Amino acid sequence: MTIEQSPMIDDAEIDAADSFELPGAEMSGEELAVEILQAQADEFTCASCFLVRHRSQIVEDDGGLLYCVDCRG
Ligand SMILES: [Zn+2]
Repeated sequence: MTIEQSPMIDDAEIDAADSFELPGAEMSGEELAVEILQAQADEFTCASCFLVRHRSQIVEDDGGLLYCVDCRG
């Protein structure tokens, strides 16, 4: 009896793990895309600390990579 029960329990645990992992992976990808889109026309995303800052705080443009005053000031 124990031989028949063990596989059933394992299947249930595997299904539960899959349903928990998939939504989490999708959410982390969406959050990343949203952060990038938050930079407005007068803002930029620092290539070092990845914070969205006002363009007046750009102190270095390294071939399109922008750095803020805190990172390169
Ligand atoms: Zn920075």
